[in-house]
Amino acid sequence: MKTYDADLIIVGGGLVGAALALALKNTTLDVILLEGRAPQLDWPLDTWDQRVYAISRASRRLLNEIGAWPRMRVERLTPISAMKIAGDAPHSRLEFAALESGVDELAFIIENRELQRALWLALDDCSNVRVMTSVTASALQIDYDAATLTLADGHQLSAKLIIGADGANSWVRQQLAIPSSAKSYEQYGVVANFACEKPHYGVAQQWFMPDGILAWLPLPNQQMSMVWSCSEDRRNELLTLSADELAKQVAQAGQSRLGQLSVVTPAAAFPLKLTQVADIARSRVALVGDAAHTVHPLAGQGVNLGFGDVAELAKVLASVHPDRIGDALVLRRYELARRESVLLMQTVCDGLQVLFNNHNPILKSLRNIGLTMTDSLPWIKRQLIRHAMDS
Ligand SMILES: Cc1cc2nc3c(=O)[nH]c(=O)nc-3n(C[C@H](O)[C@H](O)[C@H](O)COP(=O)(O)OP(=O)(O)OC[C@H]3O[C@@H](n4cnc5c(N)ncnc54)[C@H](O)[C@@H]3O)c2cc1C
Repeated sequence: MKTYDADLIIVGGGLVGAALALALKNTTLDVILLEGRAPQLDWPLDTWDQRVYAISRASRRLLNEIGAWPRMRVERLTPISAMKIAGDAPHSRLEFAALESGVDELAFIIENRELQRALWLALDDCSNVRVMTSVTASALQIDYDAATLTLADGHQLSAKLIIGADGANSWVRQQLAIPSSAKSYEQYGVVANFACEKPHYGVAQQWFMPDGILAWLPLPNQQMSMVWSCSEDRRNELLTLSADELAKQVAQAGQSRLGQLSVVTPAAAFPLKLTQVADIARSRVALVGDAAHTVHPLAGQGVNLGFGDVAELAKVLASVHPDRIGDALVLRRYELARRESVLLMQTVCDGLQVLFNNHNPILKSLRNIGLTMTDSLPWIKRQLIRHAMDS
């Protein structure tokens, strides 16, 4: 009988890979989590990560179930009480409030490293997960009864199933030549944190502007995190401004709604692209998180989609005999269950990006009328809120 080093090996211990390992903790599966870089778990508490996420209520439920949410420090979390969206014509707007939907918050804003820390602390309590850090895989071979990883030091690890949780440029996906298409938005997400003169009251704000999309997300201590999706030229300009000039330009772009700003965490930029992957599951392999899909960050849904993958894949794997976890037919159930939600989110985000990144005057008036009309239709608004919160 074939012996394995583990039932499954997860390549990539980012937010999604670590969450999947945790989601398998109540199974009999023996898991190896392999991460190239050891994550940072400690930092001075007066510093703030400029990578932040809007975590949906569905993701929060998952993080709670897998034991990560209770490890998050409440003083680093900000509930979003309302969301204000402005178009690129005067008075075009769309507003959502948590109370309208009978909930306490629409989502939570959380720093990347705080979430990563909570997940990795929770992993300490998982007796069925072995974590290997600072390890590089150099080859992957798939056979009918096993997947075998060769590490850079020549060591080999075999398992019934390999999970690619290794981000947008997935090494696992490339090793297996799984077809994918990447559409560059020719935009960058420029992120930075600011202290604000006026309180934000937990309100997230977003402006669809002729030259990009600006979002202000509330952070604790009267601070906010900016995500400015903009052209390469604008990115170059923002990254080279002095701290004072950056704060001034960002305040101006947001009509000084939070008064004067001052930089807390300097700007960094990430290229934005839409990635669509032909099959996220094959015999002995499955992809999760950004390895399986990327979306424009305008709706703040990327990692939430990844947590959706985790919930579904963990459910499928827990429902079959451990010997069958690598079967193509089993993994196909995971793929089918995720297809619709992922495609819907990619289509909506891509459509909005295309609609607002367009100078055609007819489209401009249509998109602004659309925003304001949606604002006046409470039923449609409630459906949109429910979908965003619970997907
Ligand atoms: C500007 C911007 C703003 C965003 N805002 C939001 C938001 O508000 N809400 C939201 O839901 N999403 C948001 N996203 C999307 C979110 O950042 C991603 O969806 C999420 O980080 C993906 O997590 P992941 O674990 O799949 O991949 P990654 O975070 O890329 O993690 C992959 C991990 O795999 C490891 N790795 C890679 N290759 C190997 C290898 N060969 N061997 C071992 N380890 C390996 C890496 O070291 C890394 O730790 C935003 C994205 C951008 C660019």
